Amino acid sequence: MAANISFKDLRDFAKRDANLLVICSNCDHKGVLDAEKVCRYYLCHGWNTATSIAHLHMRCHVCKRRPTEIHPTPNKPDRPQWMGSQQDWTRLTRKLRN
Ligand SMILES: [Zn+2]
Repeated sequence: MAANISFKDLRDFAKRDANLLVICSNCDHKGVLDAEKVCRYYLCHGWNTATSIAHLHMRCHVCKRRPTEIHPTPNKPDRPQWMGSQQDWTRLTRKLRN
């Protein structure tokens, strides 16, 4: 996966079976997020899914600052339990509606 250019939108990751490698250059923490879930999460919130600005809605797990880079990765997500059930999504959409 050399050409980063083909991953301009979060939807491109899921389409190509890639996940999101999110890098925090503040503390060097790296996390892998499930592309499909992140994409759905952004769409639920009505957020822009452009990869170049997607990190603005994220926070580093370790230092709580904004991560700085998002790259495609074939690796499995670190936290498969995140938004792992239909209940999580129901709760989210209910919360957003209010
Ligand atoms: Zn960090």
